Amino acid sequence: MFEVATKVHDERRQGEAFAPTIADEKEYKRRFYIESYGCSMNFSDSEIVASILSKEGFGATPHLQEADLILVNTCSIREKAEQTVRKRLTEFRKLKHKKPSLLVGVLGCMAERLKSKFLEEEKLVDLVVGPDAYRSLPGLILDADDGQKGINVLLSREETYADISPVRINSNGITAFVSIMRGCNNMCSFCVVPFTRGRERSRDPESIINECRDLFNAGYKEVTLLGQNVDSYYWTGTLPSKEGKIDAQFWPPLTPPTGENNTQPLLMQDADSNSDTLKSEVSEILSSPVGREYYAQPLLINNSGKNKDTSKSEVSAWLSFPVGGNQGLGTQSGMVAGVAVTFASLLEMVAQISPELRVRFSTSHPKDIIDEVLFTMAKYDNICKYIHLPLQSGSNRILQLMNRSYTREWYIAKVNRIREIMPGCGISADIIAGFCTETEEDHQTTLRMMEYSKYDMSYMFFYSERPGTLAERRYDDDIPEEIKKRRLQEIVDLQNKLSQQSNKEDLGKTFTVLIEGDSKKSKRDWMGRTSNNKVVVFPKNGFNFKKGEYVMVKVNDCTQATLLGE
Ligand code: SF4
Repeated sequence: MFEVATKVHDERRQGEAFAPTIADEKEYKRRFYIESYGCSMNFSDSEIVASILSKEGFGATPHLQEADLILVNTCSIREKAEQTVRKRLTEFRKLKHKKPSLLVGVLGCMAERLKSKFLEEEKLVDLVVGPDAYRSLPGLILDADDGQKGINVLLSREETYADISPVRINSNGITAFVSIMRGCNNMCSFCVVPFTRGRERSRDPESIINECRDLFNAGYKEVTLLGQNVDSYYWTGTLPSKEGKIDAQFWPPLTPPTGENNTQPLLMQDADSNSDTLKSEVSEILSSPVGREYYAQPLLINNSGKNKDTSKSEVSAWLSFPVGGNQGLGTQSGMVAGVAVTFASLLEMVAQISPELRVRFSTSHPKDIIDEVLFTMAKYDNICKYIHLPLQSGSNRILQLMNRSYTREWYIAKVNRIREIMPGCGISADIIAGFCTETEEDHQTTLRMMEYSKYDMSYMFFYSERPGTLAERRYDDDIPEEIKKRRLQEIVDLQNKLSQQSNKEDLGKTFTVLIEGDSKKSKRDWMGRTSNNKVVVFPKNGFNFKKGEYVMVKVNDCTQATLLGE
């Protein structure tokens, strides 16, 4: 649950209402108001809902009183999020008394979790629609107009809303989220997402590239590719072709990585008993078109044991990398079939839209992030050097209870690898204090892991049990609340210290900053971000800069959360 919260689970945006950013001249039959809670996937979904409704003649309003339809896009990640929604619904009751034709709908994870119970428990609710059923909204609204309460919480194995062009909500016109996949197959024991958002599906890369390119052409300068676990993005299918090869507009010709850090693309250090198998798989890669064409340098295999950040899954991920230097497995009129697109290759496609378009992504899973992604990041200046790598706990025993599928040692190897390939890359984490059976020693190990990883920032929570999760079924939530809170406070205090240290190390340095808008505190200052995701505030000082421009800013002071520059 907390991991999703980390997907830019921005507390300042909770309950944010749709506010169209451009004056809309269209005549609408009716008005809808939508309020969103939870992670950025939910905010992104609200943009899809807005698009579906606008095709049905609904115009958006940021004012409740004007609405004919009120929608709340909900989050189930924490109990507090659900309580907030319930409280909000009671406030809508008064409006419904005044305007009986008003429809109220609940969307998202809470709708999926509670299903028809919502209609029973919250009598004023007319519509309950789960995250995979937004296309059915127009039909359900028609039913509700006739007095029939509507519910659709069917989860899908295919739905990605790939063909729906989202209407941007509350956008600054510079940065946008682009959903690349839906659902999650991981079953972390504390998490409700696999039950509310269903199985993992990857979206068609052509539609992703088109959406990112359209955003860039509309003046956007940064896209964040969103998924519950972006590293497991994997799509196979057919892409447009030109002259028998994949159209370079979707898949530019691959080039070997450049830069001194990339001279040895995959450092395979293996001391395990299965090293013979690994070596034979690696030879297979070497003799494949990918090994020969994409990575000019041979893979380095040694047994020093310095870095055991290698696994069969990494090898097989490499083997699944698109074959034949831009060739699919077969062609049909204007298309190339049998193409496999991994997350690294998708990143490369998006990065090549324009060097002026920054690319971010969220969230990575420590068990799945591989060298191929790190080298792709290193290769492109416009792929931001920032990775959100949820830790959750530093204790191997707790990680196992959480069903996280990695160990502390594995996680350390990933952090080492990121620092080795991209020195200066920002790293952040999610951390849960007080998971079931957590001892003081487990907690201390988490603190030590934080010290080791030197996170620039973290999203930190204490464990709260969610109904329906594996943890609820398997374990007692046995850590008293005061202990959870005390441990969380220690985690927060340490993170504050680490963030401060990290910011102090930037004093005197100059960064390329993308201006996102006015600083919240003063219109006389700009606010922007560095590639490694640090917020920079600097005075406008009469310079003629504009939102969306890249500027060089020298850092001369800092707070714990912000770099102050000139
Ligand atoms: S990876 Fe784990 S925590 Fe993240 S969404 Fe999937 S199940 Fe939840």
